[in-house]
Amino acid sequence: MAYIEPAPIKDKENPLESMMERFNIAAEKLGLSDEVYNVLKNPAKQVIVSLPITMDNGKIHVFEGIRVIHSNILGPAKGGIRFAPDVHLDEVKALAAWMTWKCAVVDIPYGGGKGGVRCNPREMSKGEIERLMRAYTLAMLDVFGPDKDIPAPDMGTGPREMAWLMDEYSKAHGMTVNAVVTGKPLVLGGSLGRTEATGRGVMVSALGAMQKLKINPFQATCAVQGFGNVGSWAARLLEERGLKIVAISDISGAYHNENGINIVEAIEYRDSNNGTLEGFKGAEKLTDPMELLELEVDVLVPAAVEDVITIKNVEKIKAKLIVEGANGPTSAKADAIINEKGIMAVPDILANAGGVTVSYFEWVQNRLGYKWTAERVNRRSDRIMKDAFDHVYEASVKYDVPMRIAAYIVAIDKVAKTYTFRGGF
Ligand code: NAD
Repeated sequence: MAYIEPAPIKDKENPLESMMERFNIAAEKLGLSDEVYNVLKNPAKQVIVSLPITMDNGKIHVFEGIRVIHSNILGPAKGGIRFAPDVHLDEVKALAAWMTWKCAVVDIPYGGGKGGVRCNPREMSKGEIERLMRAYTLAMLDVFGPDKDIPAPDMGTGPREMAWLMDEYSKAHGMTVNAVVTGKPLVLGGSLGRTEATGRGVMVSALGAMQKLKINPFQATCAVQGFGNVGSWAARLLEERGLKIVAISDISGAYHNENGINIVEAIEYRDSNNGTLEGFKGAEKLTDPMELLELEVDVLVPAAVEDVITIKNVEKIKAKLIVEGANGPTSAKADAIINEKGIMAVPDILANAGGVTVSYFEWVQNRLGYKWTAERVNRRSDRIMKDAFDHVYEASVKYDVPMRIAAYIVAIDKVAKTYTFRGGF
């Protein structure tokens, strides 16, 4: 049966729709020509494959695999592979475009890509997931490549899956090609510093913004939603730089302590407690976890899931600065109110780009056949993040727009100029 693309997303509060809304505003501000607008609106390549897999019960199940390259004008496409039951082409297309903007904002030589396999990894055995990952890799042999398209982990995949991908790709090419994928285990060529990279970039963005807002880190308070990789690293590094973290949260609830939470203790507690903060004694549990977003703090870091700051709660937000660790935590409609309230919001495509920056370093190290120290990785990624922040801030002043639109302007301008110089259409 022919592939039927799901209807476009209608929900205006959907983060992917939100991305296109912001793209349109930035394109208008830039005076982007219709020709370039149409090129950037459409992905360069979309591949859909059927993946028949023998399941543990002996039956063959056919999964659908997708890979979209939004743009490779700045360099090879870069973007994760999502294993999720509801993943579909429209979503992958939008996420691929998102990667184009994110890489362009931090000025790394990559285009944007994204992949997805419609499956439920939670209901699959390790063997089934491995067979699926290997089949997806084989089906995408012509798409992937260190100079063409470099995947990475995303929702439902991690270093284990990336190791299988690298192995399958390498076998097909008769040599070890570790630069074909990032987010690998360290021993296979993963980079030091990758684990903390996104939280670290959030910290650098937050400090850059605090400097502009004249907020002294040693007198500032901060609330962090989400205590996984991004949230806990951001909280820890911000605490190290003097901020008082008064609230943290995860799926088990939100925890508040006006005198400040000891983040190292909270991390140790989480790690010894099946990965959750449930029962954490260093703070009081809030009755409604969403209250965390409404606390009277200087800095708010949403670092859990998308669409948490919406038209429903934005009026109650009291923070002076929002630094988006998560992808798409603020809806487009809430944006307008954030701006009216005079809150600075450092957008996801800038604030959480530390992750893709160190993924880029992983690829650079693989290609060099060399390993950098954690200190070198951190120093270089801090510099890239700070430069990107300054660049976006300058654009926000120049075009008199909020940081979010400024980030899109910086990204779209770079990609559009490259198209114009390269020409050929
Ligand atoms: P993670 O799975 O390590 O952590 C997610 C955390 O959020 C967990 O603590 C979970 O309990 C918590 N959580 C889930 N639902 C919640 C809710 N409703 N309220 C409060 N907490 C909730 O994931 P992560 O890697 O830290 O990613 C977090 C966000 O950052 C995602 O949006 C992800 O796309 C984005 N991001 C991650 C990276 C990266 O390098 N890991 C890079 C860029 C963007």
